Amino acid sequence: MNDLLNKIQKNTSTSPVKLSSHHLLSIEGMDKLEIQSLIDRADFFANLDKHSDTKFLQGYVVLNVFFENSTRTRVSFELAARRLGAEVINISLINSSIKKGESLLDTASTLNAMKPDLLIVRHPHSGAPILFANYLNCSIINAGDGRHEHPTQALLDALTIKRRIGYLEGLKISICGDIANSRVARSNIHLLTIMGAEVRCVAPPTLMPSGLEKLGVKCFYNMKEGIKNSDVVMLLRLQNERMSGTENPSEREYFKFFGLDETKLSLANSNAVIMHPGPMNRGVEIASALADDTNRSLIKTQVEMGVAVRMSIIEALNYTKHQI
Ligand code: ASP
Repeated sequence: MNDLLNKIQKNTSTSPVKLSSHHLLSIEGMDKLEIQSLIDRADFFANLDKHSDTKFLQGYVVLNVFFENSTRTRVSFELAARRLGAEVINISLINSSIKKGESLLDTASTLNAMKPDLLIVRHPHSGAPILFANYLNCSIINAGDGRHEHPTQALLDALTIKRRIGYLEGLKISICGDIANSRVARSNIHLLTIMGAEVRCVAPPTLMPSGLEKLGVKCFYNMKEGIKNSDVVMLLRLQNERMSGTENPSEREYFKFFGLDETKLSLANSNAVIMHPGPMNRGVEIASALADDTNRSLIKTQVEMGVAVRMSIIEALNYTKHQI
């Protein structure tokens, strides 16, 4: 297995990755070699000067379709597609089709008629990108669907860890906060367990979904225990927009028990790094000084790696579509 991994690593750093599907809808269902190959190819892109000639996809048309707000993900996809030479059109449907009553299927067929090569879709409902994949002829990337998955975030998180620590296998990674409402948590749980990391989920009982142990993670309701000896501490935002209102008592109380501060961090491994997918709420899930601690916080690197990872994914989907 290691020989095969080495071979893939050598090849994919300099050539596009072939996947088993020309869509990226979830991490669940991907295999270790596909994930490793995408990370290695992204690592190659991350090492290039941003003016390097990577315009392999001239004439390729990308629709960035967002039914939910986003700044960093939308811009990151746009930059990635442009660096590959693609044409990008941003379509915000937050206030449009849904409110005007158009069905998702009608929206899908309208977008299909524009004949894009790739549709990047963010939607408040889990499963919307799967429906698009069933009805459109082009490739689909899930840029976050409800509480379900955010696969490109997990891949960029993995690249960020790999560039700082060098590997994922065997690392102790604590994902802390609003696990129940987080698509980032779900994608990371799948990716990190596939890659052989020891994943711990840390949350108050009201924000911990049931059945996580079946995915191979350990659950902790006490943050001090949950981050003990961890190599990576990943924080999540309280996603109030998906809560019914009774899950969390107060932000001050939340910070006391589940916010990352110096005292709690001192229990982790002495070299432990801090991650957050953003947007972050300072003083709620993380102390402001720790978010800005350039030795330990990888939050800015995560944003930077987003572009490289999305380049590797867009390139791979195009390559795969033409190989199938
Ligand atoms: N940006 C991430 C997402 O879209 C995390 C968050 O919103 O808290 O899921």
